Amino acid sequence: MECLSNCLVCGSKKIIKKKSLIDYSLTKETFTLYQCLSCAVVFTNPRPKKDKIKKYYDLKKYDSYSKKNDFFGFVYGFIQKLNNSYKTNLLKKYKTGSLLDYGSGSGSFVNYTQKKGYTSFGYEPINKLKHNFIYKNKIIIKKQKYDWVTLWHVLEHTHNPKSTLKGIGGLLNKDGLIAVAIPNIASYDNIYYKKYWAGYDVPRHLFHFNTTSFKKLATFANLKIINKKPLWFDPIYVSMLSEKYKKNKFSFLSGFFRGFISNLYAIKTGQHSSIIYILRKC
Ligand SMILES: [Zn+2]
Repeated sequence: MECLSNCLVCGSKKIIKKKSLIDYSLTKETFTLYQCLSCAVVFTNPRPKKDKIKKYYDLKKYDSYSKKNDFFGFVYGFIQKLNNSYKTNLLKKYKTGSLLDYGSGSGSFVNYTQKKGYTSFGYEPINKLKHNFIYKNKIIIKKQKYDWVTLWHVLEHTHNPKSTLKGIGGLLNKDGLIAVAIPNIASYDNIYYKKYWAGYDVPRHLFHFNTTSFKKLATFANLKIINKKPLWFDPIYVSMLSEKYKKNKFSFLSGFFRGFISNLYAIKTGQHSSIIYILRKC
């Protein structure tokens, strides 16, 4: 385990212990969250070292890996299809061209965008590769520049989101854009489910943002947020999983209802369960 004594986003040493959480989805181990008093980012601390984190990604069990045959796998697959279409339509409003899906998982988004006219590639350091255009080696993806780099629920898994974003900034073509989707800890479903909130997903999620701390991260990475969009289906899936962690027998119905309420709440407050940020270089 690695113990952080300062914030990796702003560098401040003023960090405080916030709460303890259980890894409900896999190991049942307990992890602690800290918050930076300067930039408000929340992070998992202590955390598994980069070369030891793989054991927390059960290749059969973890959600973004291989198609699951159970009910949650079915819901995940269905939402993934809807989200691919929604995300691609959003990207197309800005530009088409070359695209790198950073942390591409099973390659679903790379596949989808290739069919929609993008020249798409993927970078995937953990998952088994089943796709010709997805690479495990960073040297290969650095050989060219991209019009888009997308990180769909990936940045919260990285050990240093600031250096990751800075590195990605260097992979962009002139006027290239970045799309980042991350859970929002100020969402209604987080406030409702508290320690059971599936959006925490410790220790796989190492950083936990709200809109304020994400804006600070973007600034420190020399990026500017030019748009924000919600992911409407995420609160439903996250709420269903959270209900499952609470051992609710009716996790599907209760989760669906709670996710719906989360979306209603977010229409008023802007605090969506997951947010897509569109960024450009400063
Ligand atoms: Zn900080």
